[in-house]
Amino acid sequence: ADSATVERALDNAVAAHDGWNETPAAGRAAILEHAADLLEQRMPQYIALCTREAGKSIPDGVAEVREAVDFLRYYAGQARKLFTPEALPGPTGESNTLQLSGRGVFVCISPWNFPLAIFTGQVAAALAAGNSVIAKPAEQTNLIGYYAVKLLHEAGVPEAVLQFLPGDGATVGAALTRDPRVAGVAFTGSTETARAINRALAARDAAIGVLIAETGGQNALIADSSSLPEQLVKDAIGSAFTSAGQRCSAARVLFVQEDIADKVIGMLAGAMAELKVGDPGQLSTDVGPVIDEDARQILVDHAARMDKEATLIAEAALDDDAAHGCFFAPRAYELKSLDQLQREVFGPVLHVIRWKASQLDAVIAAINATGYGLTLGIHSRIDETVEKIAAKVKVGNCYVNRNQIGAVVGVQPFGGQNLSGTGPKAGGPHYLPRFTTEKTITVNTTAAGGNASLLTLSD
Ligand code: NAD
Repeated sequence: ADSATVERALDNAVAAHDGWNETPAAGRAAILEHAADLLEQRMPQYIALCTREAGKSIPDGVAEVREAVDFLRYYAGQARKLFTPEALPGPTGESNTLQLSGRGVFVCISPWNFPLAIFTGQVAAALAAGNSVIAKPAEQTNLIGYYAVKLLHEAGVPEAVLQFLPGDGATVGAALTRDPRVAGVAFTGSTETARAINRALAARDAAIGVLIAETGGQNALIADSSSLPEQLVKDAIGSAFTSAGQRCSAARVLFVQEDIADKVIGMLAGAMAELKVGDPGQLSTDVGPVIDEDARQILVDHAARMDKEATLIAEAALDDDAAHGCFFAPRAYELKSLDQLQREVFGPVLHVIRWKASQLDAVIAAINATGYGLTLGIHSRIDETVEKIAAKVKVGNCYVNRNQIGAVVGVQPFGGQNLSGTGPKAGGPHYLPRFTTEKTITVNTTAAGGNASLLTLSD
């Protein structure tokens, strides 16, 4: 899209808002549920798209479609519940009701790493809440976004209510977010882009906009000496290397207590030697490619720095079919301290740091000091340790004795704190209200003559 298309889309969205907002929430919900049915019926097509356009493995593709379906159904259910006007207490002779409605035009800007699930989740929530929506996919995954929007149109969302605007972030994204007609932005992506959008919204001479931003993390996994090495290594590998580490929730740093560190590091290297890195279209593949050449180059540069400043624990082998495409072999490095990492490394690199039993508080403080707060894994069989870490660490999602990826809609509402996001959490009960505005209606019922409410007290 170019700037003329952005203008047209905004005009259409403003014009379409009232009609959609006046459609009963149950009607909007039924359309979203119909879209969920269609998506389930066409699962293989969407899995294939995720593999071909985003390099997703087949299990990742299945999870992607399931999550998109879950978002559609969850926000439909939430809309049915939340949009029922709520009667409030008040004095005799007066009725008070609180009701929600859409805020206006919402811009949804999503990343490439969950090109169907996050894209659909943002859009479904904004639509369920009665907003008209302009959806901008990431540059790398336009086709998946396009097919998601086509499906929502087929399910019954009017074309002007949901418009698809592919394009460059710096031009299309920036033009949308600085426009005074926009009531709110749902964004998922890097912390830097979230800041740019925040500034663009704030600079407008318009109603103050809503910004829901889900951003990056510097996610740690803390393992004490009571953790079970076999389980720990399995979960560390899954958390760090699934989706080639291109998950915001992925484990970046494993803090392992020194008493078990040698054993764990040895097992980690052994498990990494078993990873199959190659064609994501093969069921046998564990790790597929990274998204593009730019992403690969950032990882190559990081590995070059780590080769000098840290100790290589293991580097997985690439399959022959990895010769074509943007592949980066998963690596694990041992570091001395978390200060050696300045920012999120978005790929299959796990950093390992040893800690002494006396240093648990310092480990927690170092994690909190990064300023990020997305996911944290804890491996321990001591309840007191688990409770202490979980209470002190400032993260949005804390996982104990399991992997730290793959949050499920409605079960593990997802989203971080501080540099990792504004909240409310996606797939949680507080998300939809952020897309709405509230109205109270107060009626003097005695104006009709007498206390009308007494006349209805038949039971
Ligand atoms: P990105 O910030 O580069 O891009 C995200 C989107 O923003 C894209 O659609 C892009 O076109 C758009 N954009 C870029 N500049 C813009 C601007 N100035 N104005 C408006 N829009 C603009 O991020 P990415 O590389 O696509 O995604 C990876 C990042 O996303 C990682 O940091 C990851 O941690 C984060 N992420 C977070 C979550 C979460 O839920 N917290 C989930 C997935 C990904």
